[in-house]
Amino acid sequence: MSQPLDNDIKFLTGVGEARANLLRTELGIRTVGDLLRHYPYRYIDRTRFYRIGEIRDDSLSYIQLRARITGFQHAGGGAKKRFVATVSDGSGTAELVWFKGIGWIEKQLEMGREYIIFGRPAFFNGSLSLVHPEVESTLAQQNRPAAGVQGVYSTTEKLNNKRLGTKAIYNLVCNAWALAGERIAETLPQRILEEYRLPSLRDALHDIHFPENDQRLKAAELRLKFEELFGVQLVILADRQQRVGKNNGFLFTTVGEKFNRFYSERLPFPLTGAQKRVIREIRQDTATGHQMNRLLQGDVGSGKTLVALMSMLIAVDNGFQACLMAPTEILAAQHFATISRLTEGIASVRLLTGSTRKKERTEIASELLGGTCDILIGTHALIEEGVQFRNLGFVVIDEQHRFGVEQRAKLWLKNDSPPHVLVMTATPIPRTLAMTLYGDLDVSVIDELPPGRKPVRTVHYHDSHRLRVFGFIRDEIKKGRQVYIVYPLIKESEKMDYKDLEDGYAGITQAFPPPEYVTVVVHGKMKPADKEYGMNLFKSGTAQIMVATSVIEVGVDVPNASIMVIESAERFGLSQLHQLRGRVGRGGEQSYCILMSGDKLSAESRKRLGAMVSTSDGFELAELDLQLRGPGDMTGTQQSGLAFDLKIASLGKDGQILTLAREAAEKVLDDDPGLSKPENRQLRELAERYRPQKVMDFSMIS
Ligand code: ADP
Ligand code: MG
Repeated sequence: MSQPLDNDIKFLTGVGEARANLLRTELGIRTVGDLLRHYPYRYIDRTRFYRIGEIRDDSLSYIQLRARITGFQHAGGGAKKRFVATVSDGSGTAELVWFKGIGWIEKQLEMGREYIIFGRPAFFNGSLSLVHPEVESTLAQQNRPAAGVQGVYSTTEKLNNKRLGTKAIYNLVCNAWALAGERIAETLPQRILEEYRLPSLRDALHDIHFPENDQRLKAAELRLKFEELFGVQLVILADRQQRVGKNNGFLFTTVGEKFNRFYSERLPFPLTGAQKRVIREIRQDTATGHQMNRLLQGDVGSGKTLVALMSMLIAVDNGFQACLMAPTEILAAQHFATISRLTEGIASVRLLTGSTRKKERTEIASELLGGTCDILIGTHALIEEGVQFRNLGFVVIDEQHRFGVEQRAKLWLKNDSPPHVLVMTATPIPRTLAMTLYGDLDVSVIDELPPGRKPVRTVHYHDSHRLRVFGFIRDEIKKGRQVYIVYPLIKESEKMDYKDLEDGYAGITQAFPPPEYVTVVVHGKMKPADKEYGMNLFKSGTAQIMVATSVIEVGVDVPNASIMVIESAERFGLSQLHQLRGRVGRGGEQSYCILMSGDKLSAESRKRLGAMVSTSDGFELAELDLQLRGPGDMTGTQQSGLAFDLKIASLGKDGQILTLAREAAEKVLDDDPGLSKPENRQLRELAERYRPQKVMDFSMIS
């Protein structure tokens, strides 16, 4: 039975072919149902009219005026060509400005007539202007159903320019409701609606667009968020049931000689309780016959590498090979140095990165196929097709947020059955959230730092206090300490960032002149050999200062470095700042993290830097990060982040609903794993709707 919600949006009154294309490419809206699922992101009081005279600044994001047109004017030329209508409401005058669609708008407006004007206030040369406002005759307003508040819909600049601004979208939603509103089929079973006291889909969709009061709006939000998170959890948990049910995981039955030798002869220090617990969890996982898919969270410096190494040794003891993939060459090289040193004479370890020479590559390839290489460490060079193992059984991915889902999938294909996977991250995120972010993963947490760590002291200075900071650094260097100075590197402005770094370096060498001071530079654009040279100078203590981009964000381990200076700290995200801070505080000395920023800061930046100063708890910071930035950004720019497309629920703010939804999904699947019972038909469809699209939808890329 075809539903009115499935109707192509182009047949809706007010849309047509051209607008339908735009709505699809800009907002992903294809059907009437998609439009009704395009929820307002906030509401404005449409009963409230402002007087022009009372608007004094641009702090309001929208205003509604009732004013009469008193003049027209064409102004500017070229790109600045614009059409200006002057309006007055007796309390003052304002200018309505159009840069595009001038011919059309000019025909709509009538001198002397009163209009309802809706838009964002701005001030130019002291006078109030509204650029590309929505304008409607007072007559049209009278014909519309009275609603106290009206939804504000997200739109894009392109849509706005084609007269599909937020209010036009609202009008389309009204049309969609008139067409389909009373024929919306329920997507949740009655028993779930009752158990969780949720309104019907029909009521929820009505109230989310046309709320009569706050209470109904809240109920609608709850219902729609619940449905969304419930759908996602159904998908995740069903996949998990399938995987665990398959029983095709490699069996690691023994803890053998290599593991035991390492444990008794090589372990440089006693394991922390948390490390032991996680190793036990991994042991248990890999002895069940199910394929392990585990996320290991542990704050920076919590000792994840050792857990990875010991797990890999278990694999090797059971006749399998293992590999560890790191996001940067520096980190891979460092893991290789640590691990090959610790396992010398126990396991054969190799390093493979983009800069490995051809001859060595060939050697590695044959050792991998011959089975003489036990552990392969490297960068994403590991996942290239040419890299073939004899029997890969265990894969570790370090600092997961740098890798996409696809890259992980490639590793799965390196053996007949997928190897066990351990994903390690220093970004602590709540368990249910981790599952929603990364799909079907079990989660282990190292919640204990190795003993003897002193908390890093964090301070924030404005650029104008640079000299004081330099003085402090000089004192610390005198005491024999080393210093990192980090510059942001953000893809979009790479050129500028390198210039910042170079200027910074020049400034540093002036303030810390050789030969008394040795400063090295390390960044991603350098040749690997140069990078390594710089790193080694720093590691050996020859250089006291390392100027770097955020390439050192992950993994660099120099215990004697006790000062981390982060330049333009306001440009980093919270989790990144926390990661960087984790580079110091590894030795016995008091360490410092110095956040440098411009003098003027946005409210959000101030919050971020303030949080860094006030806490060193990674979980707390991650929670805050999520709230400040949203989950999409949290995983870094290299990965879109969320495996699931959430329209209304916020992972940062709706944790409680997520927990409810998860419980509900567990209950349903326990009772009916395949969702094949007739009473679960709706849920099967719901899960289908939330299953991530495997195939790229190219029509979405414009
Ligand atoms: P991360 O979790 O950030 O990857 P690492 O594995 O790099 O942390 O460990 C950080 C530092 O702590 C390393 O110098 C490592 O040798 C040390 N370390 C790890 N485990 C312990 C432990 N149980 N006791 C003392 N030091 C440890
Ligand atoms: Mg690490």
